[in-house]
Amino acid sequence: MKIDIHAHVLPKRWPDLKDRYGYGGFISLLHHGDPGAGKHGDIPFGCAHMVKDETFFRAVEPNLWDSHARIADCDQHGVDVQVLSTVPVMFSYWAKPQDTLDLARFLNDDIAERLIQHPTRFAGLGTLPMQAPDLAAAEVARCKAIGLCGVEIGTHIEQFNLDDPRFDEVWAACEAHDMAVFVHPWDMMGMSRMPKHWLPWLVGMPPETSLAICSLIMGGVMDRFPQVRFVFAHAGGSFHGTLGRIDHGHHVRPDLCQTHTTRKPSDYLRNFWVDSLVHDPDMLRLIVRRQGADRVCLGTDAPFPLGDLEPGKMIEESDFDPITKEMLLSGAALQAFGLNRQLFETEASVAHSERIGAGRRMGSWM
Ligand SMILES: [Zn+2]
Repeated sequence: MKIDIHAHVLPKRWPDLKDRYGYGGFISLLHHGDPGAGKHGDIPFGCAHMVKDETFFRAVEPNLWDSHARIADCDQHGVDVQVLSTVPVMFSYWAKPQDTLDLARFLNDDIAERLIQHPTRFAGLGTLPMQAPDLAAAEVARCKAIGLCGVEIGTHIEQFNLDDPRFDEVWAACEAHDMAVFVHPWDMMGMSRMPKHWLPWLVGMPPETSLAICSLIMGGVMDRFPQVRFVFAHAGGSFHGTLGRIDHGHHVRPDLCQTHTTRKPSDYLRNFWVDSLVHDPDMLRLIVRRQGADRVCLGTDAPFPLGDLEPGKMIEESDFDPITKEMLLSGAALQAFGLNRQLFETEASVAHSERIGAGRRMGSWM
């Protein structure tokens, strides 16, 4: 079975947010044929442009909003389930809290509706108005009630890192409602110094994720909320590549690094999950060795081009043993997001497990 835990989705249309809230800065989706749609270049029939006010952001295709197109993509690559989350530019933590809540509810309801339509193909994560933790905590409860299995948040919330005590009530809500927390880089550090070569995505995103992991570990959040299942995008960004340095710093400068914890950062590797999106078999092997296969979930960043364009192929073609492969492709995701394997199992998924040699052995212990 293949479960992709990192898959972004947007509604096909949403209200004009500048009109609705009275100020700009929000993303809109201009479809082929919409008024003003040609301003940023041709939009092929059926496609759209994501636009921030007057600025072009990204060209997108129907597989971003059309569930049937997504399922067709999944079928092509043998992906049984996508765990859907919004596109991080929609987080809108900079906006007025009530407006971000309003937008979050719209996006979360859209994902919940997809789960109703396709309960065996999709699971879903909600977005939260994290700049207002009381509103965010309430939305966690509502997300649970509408059938989502977790939330997706950014690596920082405006000027605050994730260990700021203001977010404790959000973690408490996630713990109380058994909701996973998928942490995705956004609003990358040093953006003004990276105008070219797609550098914010290639260079800026990985340290964002490491910043989030280090903040949650060293700030004591993982100690205070041990039941919260944090899952980090892009295999934890630069965290694994610099873990030796981080551990060393923890040892030599306890005055700076051990203010809220005593265990070294690498002692927390079993406390959280990462996705598998590294594009590098050697790095994937290292991460699996360090964290365990049950902490590394297939994640593709679908439907975007920087993602895994052949979902799961690197794992399937690796020299991992069959049980490890099955764990990476689905078992870790089931644990991280509290999903029931039986709900998603089909003849095709069982056949796939058998093809990689794992058979039905996973079913007995998950
Ligand atoms: Zn992503």
